[in-house]
Amino acid sequence: MKFGTKVIHAGIEPDPSTGAIMTPIFQTSTYVQNAPGDHKGFEYARTQNPTRKVLETNLAALENGKYGICFSSGLAAMDAVLKTLNPGDEILATSDLYGGSYRLITKVYDKFGIKGKFIPMDNPEAVAKKITKKTKLIWIETPTNPMLNIIDIKRICKIAKQKKILTCVDNTFASPYLQTPLDLGADIVLHSATKYLGGHSDVILGAIIVKTKKLADQFYFIQNASGAVPGPQDCFLILRGIKTLHLRVQRACKNAKHIAKYLVAHPKVGKVFYPGFKDHPNHEVAKKQMNDFGGMVSFDFKDDSFSTAKKVLSNTRLFALAESLGGVESLIGHPASMTHGSIPKAERMKVGLKDSLIRLSVGVEDVDDLIQDLESAFSNL
Ligand SMILES: *Cc1c(COP(=O)(O)O)cnc(C)c1O
Repeated sequence: MKFGTKVIHAGIEPDPSTGAIMTPIFQTSTYVQNAPGDHKGFEYARTQNPTRKVLETNLAALENGKYGICFSSGLAAMDAVLKTLNPGDEILATSDLYGGSYRLITKVYDKFGIKGKFIPMDNPEAVAKKITKKTKLIWIETPTNPMLNIIDIKRICKIAKQKKILTCVDNTFASPYLQTPLDLGADIVLHSATKYLGGHSDVILGAIIVKTKKLADQFYFIQNASGAVPGPQDCFLILRGIKTLHLRVQRACKNAKHIAKYLVAHPKVGKVFYPGFKDHPNHEVAKKQMNDFGGMVSFDFKDDSFSTAKKVLSNTRLFALAESLGGVESLIGHPASMTHGSIPKAERMKVGLKDSLIRLSVGVEDVDDLIQDLESAFSNL
């Protein structure tokens, strides 16, 4: 099955009891048993829910994996991955990763003796040098947030495999339509389904996708034992969003390309961060591992002043000033004060995340209107 068919059909069958073509929302906490232990595969809804199961099967197919395990949020999914580690273990993670992921490692797991090391990963050899005996997990986020660097998944996973280190790729920014890390050697793929998979900014959900039964069993165990499960209506909303994933991402990529070109030509704009540009430092890697360059564009201002950025941030009408990304509607954000507020300024500056940096999540609106919206916000400068 090709991707555009999988989003609609993989794991999705009409409901056998009614013929309902859409997966029903099984809003139940428990299931009747005929006799002790004699049931239909469902006992208690933290452990199994039919709506969630369909979503997990669908996600496994989209990522070319075998098992999907869903959680109540992207960070709950990450929490499950970190719970497989032991005190004394180290995580090597991408330096400009999602602020909440950084916070989970440094503020929650650090005190249990699980340490994070944050390094730029665009040079795989440099990553190899940072590996120690304690390194048990390599955490890759690509494209990175918000600098939109691209990390060579295949090369890093190869290095990790030689040293028997697990790799997890946070595939939230790309979505499985643009990149499938399990095919490139990753052990675990993680999603904040809140973003592109859901696509309509109306639900929080997370997922892990793996290929091996060994990893899947660990994650099903944690899913049930820790209990950060999504509700059935949330699973339904993600399933519904996924049906148009390919169409939405295609349009977002096309719009983002137009907008990136517009920004480069603007006299007040400093740097534009967009992996689709030939002069982007990781453009060749992006071309190799992604089907297109994504719907995210970041840029800063020549004067690098927060007040310049603020004027633009407060004066767009279509681009809504909000955290999050990957929805049908375009969003504008200020990483230094919003999504990356929990990262110390010194850490931010190391990766080039300036105070004037603006991040756009380009939606699927008509691109002419989006450019006009930016144009009018810029006219106040
Ligand atoms: C939003 C996000 C997360 C966290 O997901 P939630 O669903 O908000 O918990 C993790 N990684 C990336 C890249 C994200 O954008």
